[in-house]
Amino acid sequence: MPERVRFRCNNCGNRFETEVLDEDERREARRENRPTNAVHCPECHRTDVRRGWD
Ligand SMILES: [Zn+2]
Repeated sequence: MPERVRFRCNNCGNRFETEVLDEDERREARRENRPTNAVHCPECHRTDVRRGWD
């Protein structure tokens, strides 16, 4: 099951929640050469984000 994870954008500082694949789904996607979609900021669309709101 995908899990909801909190991220904060390193570019604009926007905080957002998004669903990410869990460990097993990521492994499976890699094995099948499917892209594990990169998390990006909904405001500025940069992928320079980090987990957590601290
Ligand atoms: Zn941003």
